[in-house]
Amino acid sequence: MTSPEEHLMNWLRDAHAMEKQAETMLSAIAGRLEHYPELKARIEAHLQETRVQSDMLISCIERRGGDSSTMKDLIGRFAAMGQGVCGMMASDEVIKGAMAGYAFEHVEVAAYKVLIAAADHCGDPETSAVCQRILQQEMVMGNWLAEHMEQVTLAFLSRSAANEPARI
Ligand code: MG
Ligand code: FE
Repeated sequence: MTSPEEHLMNWLRDAHAMEKQAETMLSAIAGRLEHYPELKARIEAHLQETRVQSDMLISCIERRGGDSSTMKDLIGRFAAMGQGVCGMMASDEVIKGAMAGYAFEHVEVAAYKVLIAAADHCGDPETSAVCQRILQQEMVMGNWLAEHMEQVTLAFLSRSAANEPARI
């Protein structure tokens, strides 16, 4: 038997690992982007949010009596997802990156909805409030990517048709 409190703790740890992976992916993409300044700026802004999210999750874990010193073991759990972004060398990597980013934000949205429900069930309004705050940031980022998919695609197509070097 696993108690709701144990599940909540595991899911907080999973979310922390997810944010660490997000940090890796976002900084890799932001560092490579040259020709999409608006996308780069938005990714850099979300990278800052992501670092704070990670710290807020640690606070929730510690406040609930969890040990955050073992967290390193869990980082990498989301590595497979990250490779879809970081390992990409295709000429259309900005497009693949935007698609993967959109998908990742929505996985985050789902994870925080689960955490909010579990925190509410466990009577932990502080964890619930933290997760609601993070959820908003993930939704805003996911929506931003959706709203800019056309712009990024058209910019990519125009660069590609003009035979611009494949640097993204
Ligand atoms: Mg996040
Ligand atoms: Fe995010």
